[in-house]
Amino acid sequence: MKLFWLAVLTCLACSLGAQDTAYARKIINDLTSEKFYGRGYLHNGLGKAASYIEHELKSNGITPLFDGKYMQPFFQTVNTFPVIEVTLNGKKLIPGWDYIPHPSSGPLKGRYPVYPKDSVTYASPRGELVFQLRKKLTYSVGNESRNKTIIELDKTRFKELPEKAELELKTKLLNKFKANNVGGMIKGTSSDSIIIFSAHYDHLGGLGDHTYFPGANDNASGVSMVLNLMQYYKTHPPKYTTVFVFFAGEEAGLLGSLHLSENPPFPLKQVKFMINLDLLGTGDEGIMVVNGAVFEKEFKRLHDLNDAQRLVYGVNKRGKAANSDHYWFSEKGVPAFFIYTLGGVTAYHDVRDISATLPLTDYADVCRLILKFVDGF
Ligand SMILES: [Zn+2]
Repeated sequence: MKLFWLAVLTCLACSLGAQDTAYARKIINDLTSEKFYGRGYLHNGLGKAASYIEHELKSNGITPLFDGKYMQPFFQTVNTFPVIEVTLNGKKLIPGWDYIPHPSSGPLKGRYPVYPKDSVTYASPRGELVFQLRKKLTYSVGNESRNKTIIELDKTRFKELPEKAELELKTKLLNKFKANNVGGMIKGTSSDSIIIFSAHYDHLGGLGDHTYFPGANDNASGVSMVLNLMQYYKTHPPKYTTVFVFFAGEEAGLLGSLHLSENPPFPLKQVKFMINLDLLGTGDEGIMVVNGAVFEKEFKRLHDLNDAQRLVYGVNKRGKAANSDHYWFSEKGVPAFFIYTLGGVTAYHDVRDISATLPLTDYADVCRLILKFVDGF
């Protein structure tokens, strides 16, 4: 009997992390699948991802955050590439792998000779088409459509010098694209003060009908961690009201978090602390805490907790940075950390940011550290 309980207890202790990671892997696999098309602006990828997260909140009985609703709409302008075909020197190129368009490129169709402008720039005689040679392709989201087409070429894959191009790029500038922040909350047992956990669920979307950016590390990993925290607090009722927010429009310029920070469903001064999670899929070199150098007392507590519990490889700090969704909140006086993991895979804003190679090295330990840190408030 004794042995049996010992086995059960040991197993509970060890399986906690394994369970968290299995749930995380499922969420990350789902959100990076073709159905969600890079959680962007083609094939309703973003809308499908919002509904997926809403379903997770609803089916777990989490209270809607926005006056009885899980979604908070806002509008953004975004440039998209529904049709994209490029043939260079007679070879058909694969979007995302061989090349990306500059996100604010305009439409163009036809055949063009291109000539060197410098060692990494090739342009058509009138300059409407430009090729730029790159060592790594890094895509982002454009909010305009210029009257110039810039193609960034991966020179590690396309080793010739560009001479003759044939292309068809159809762009569509979506002027009033409707995006949604998604959110839920668990009411605190003894206080109206608020703890916010947040992660952006949008990514870069796709190019045409065959290429999308999966965004496993950025930021299906953070979404899965906020959902994991939600699962935890569902069975461990929190002292403070605990809010779970999933922002849209992050990659387009922190637009969803700007909107929510200006239209908060609760008074911001009630917020005790905010933890924003973005890029949580590695950890071989520990974690970085943005605003760690701003909120020194809280950082020291986090750092010392980690030392005492021997969780992640290292807890590092930096000052403030407008590099994720915590930014607008801390600018408005909300104490906030943005935590990301360090080391591991180098895929970033490209087609290689996939679930299969995302190690989740320190995932369970980061979860544990955050839970212990929040417990100390
Ligand atoms: Zn991100």
